[in-house]
Amino acid sequence: MKTVIEDMCSGVDEEAIARAGSILKQGGLVAFPTETVYGLGADALDAEASARIYAAKGRPSDNPLIIHIADWEAINYIVEEIPEQAKKLADEYWPGPLTMIFRKSKAVPLATTGGLQTVAVRMPDHEVARALIRAGGGYVAAPSANTSGRPSPTKASHVVEDMDGKIEMIIDGGEVGIGIESTIIDFTEEIPTILRPGYINQEMIARVIGNVRTDRGLIADNSEVKPKAPGMKYRHYAPRAELFIVEGQEKQVRDKINELVREAAAQGKKPGIIATEESMGFYECQMVKSIGTRTEEITISRHLFGILREFDNSDISVIYSEAFETPNMGQAIMNRLIKAAGHQIIRV
Ligand code: AMP
Ligand code: MG
Repeated sequence: MKTVIEDMCSGVDEEAIARAGSILKQGGLVAFPTETVYGLGADALDAEASARIYAAKGRPSDNPLIIHIADWEAINYIVEEIPEQAKKLADEYWPGPLTMIFRKSKAVPLATTGGLQTVAVRMPDHEVARALIRAGGGYVAAPSANTSGRPSPTKASHVVEDMDGKIEMIIDGGEVGIGIESTIIDFTEEIPTILRPGYINQEMIARVIGNVRTDRGLIADNSEVKPKAPGMKYRHYAPRAELFIVEGQEKQVRDKINELVREAAAQGKKPGIIATEESMGFYECQMVKSIGTRTEEITISRHLFGILREFDNSDISVIYSEAFETPNMGQAIMNRLIKAAGHQIIRV
């Protein structure tokens, strides 16, 4: 299949959006930018179209998709009921990087929800995404547009790496703003429960609805507690090189990474480092990449997946990364980084 690439870096191209909308309506796949990561979209109400997403990504079929809407009214057709607290959260954070889970209506095929009776819904804050959703009939199922297990795409070139020849269209909207996937909150539990951390953190949610908790499967360090979002149990974001996180006081971390790099090189490995603008200069290694600056944590979240992909395209065989326990997004950033590292953390 020939994958068409449409450039919308400087805004919505109405004619191309109309073509993208008809691809979706005919059961095809279109990758598109959102404020979090690039999504791989299909008509959420069409079971066969949803099935094509799983095939293109190589995604396990029990891992449900998020349905993206562009207008508040659209939600009524796909969910059974909306608790008051969810309306308040939508008022505050939609459109935005927040996904909410409700009981699904009959209109939503089980192929889209991975067999669950619940459905995840999000309204993205990106004009290209919303134009596409409207053109495609109002309900677009979209996971991240990467091959299952690889880092999520934050640029159109990442989508091309994974999806070229497998889908009808890729819309290029430039680099995304946030860089890690939406926060997921489950409203089908007695107490609203965060299943995946993201830009909208627990404090920002608690400020609006009061009582909220975090899924134990997310916090627990062992694999006995199963996370409630099926997708959180899979190995994710894994770079080809082995990845270690080094955690502790700034100075000790730098010394430890320099030591590990020397050891790795002596063993004939090709080491690389994930550092920040602040720490770059302290490392002796040839292959040091800056993820961003600690004074602006969004630069760290935005570049996390991209930097993992850059290492994938190099001959680096082992990566040492600093930890990024930043004030607001620290939990979300470290959740992704720890998964990428397969839980290999060195504490100094
Ligand atoms: P992705 O689209 O790649 O960001 O993955 C979507 C995430 O949402 C996965 O971790 C899914 O397991 C989770 N998810 C989607 N729908 C549901 C649902 N109905 N219940 C629980 N988790 C869900
Ligand atoms: Mg994903």
